[in-house]
Amino acid sequence: MQKPSKPSIQSLLLEEIAAYLATRDQRPYRAKQIADWIYEKRVNSFDEMTDLPNDLRNNLANDFVIGGIETVRVLGSDDTTRKFLFRLRDGDLIESVLIPASPALYGQQSDRRTICVSTQVGCAYGCKFCASGLDGFTRNLDSSEIVQQLLLVEKESGEKINNVVFMGMGEPLANFSNVVRAIRIINATWGLEIGARHITVSTSGLAPQIRKLADEPLQSRLAISLHGATDSVRNKIMPINRKYDLETLLSACDYYASRRKQRLYFEYILIAGINDSDEQAHLLAGHARRLNAKINLIPYNKVEGLEWSRPSRTRQERFLSILREHGSVATLRREKGHDIDAACGQLRLQAKRSETGDEPPKTRTLAR
Ligand code: SAH
Ligand code: SF4
Repeated sequence: MQKPSKPSIQSLLLEEIAAYLATRDQRPYRAKQIADWIYEKRVNSFDEMTDLPNDLRNNLANDFVIGGIETVRVLGSDDTTRKFLFRLRDGDLIESVLIPASPALYGQQSDRRTICVSTQVGCAYGCKFCASGLDGFTRNLDSSEIVQQLLLVEKESGEKINNVVFMGMGEPLANFSNVVRAIRIINATWGLEIGARHITVSTSGLAPQIRKLADEPLQSRLAISLHGATDSVRNKIMPINRKYDLETLLSACDYYASRRKQRLYFEYILIAGINDSDEQAHLLAGHARRLNAKINLIPYNKVEGLEWSRPSRTRQERFLSILREHGSVATLRREKGHDIDAACGQLRLQAKRSETGDEPPKTRTLAR
């Protein structure tokens, strides 16, 4: 398929819309009018922007598109995790997940509706346990493709999203500028107006980009996918650790923590026989203390075709209790059905959910 020629207007910041307007001899206040049509009134065409002069509407339509990605399928029902399959303009497919009210997810209140967004098509980092990396990397999403995931999920679900986690397909910090730009638009009062504290970026450990993110004037939160408390464990399951070892990662986190008020999160998937020993728990608690980080333990969610499995309930609880004995702030996801685990990092395999023992997802086919 051909590369799209016109950019999507949803990739522009307000000041960039204003700069464009200046090239068309238009007054800057029109930028806010345009943003209102896009993010508040949610129109699908420039023709509907009825308070703009005709020639400006024509110019905009010549230079930009609104949107560009389309919904292919919605899986799941209103009170469960819903999964949305989208087609990009070049034909690639991505998914987002809407997670309903869920206590203890990233420290937010329980009435939150969380969207898990993708940042890349595929992922180049090839963590051994993850479905997203299985087929390798195709390309980065641009910022409008990230922002549109929120707009389309709100449109399809009729619900207002108030929490965003960058935990779908891809490594957000490997797509740094598009992710930062998308966060600005999602956070802006002229944009989607979601508070920075309700936006969490997750990384597998790109140390230099963690430092770079720390220097950005953003108050979003950061989660580190640690999954191992020593180099030997991380090396086994996360190839990134051979480039940025644990100490390099933790010292980048020190820097990040020194620049932000918000706590860091450690994500720690519990995988049987790999990273669930007492020793790992003791060391993990030490790393968390060093950074004042909160730990989210996530029992591994089986990926078809991969050998890994989750530890027994007893082992999971034992791991948690060791962390707590050290005074760590830690949670263990105990949800039935593992919907949230499945949501993030396993997007491509959602259609195979029935094999995990859950009900097969209800499928609603939309535009084809
Ligand atoms: N690339 C980023 C963000 C996407 S992955 C990162 O790695 O942090 C989002 C989260 O889902 C990560 O913590 C990842 O380790 C986790 N994940 C991947 N596969 C999983 C699985 N099978 N079960 C549970 N969590 C998984
Ligand atoms: Fe990529 Fe994150 Fe999956 Fe690793 S866990 S392969 S970094 S998406």
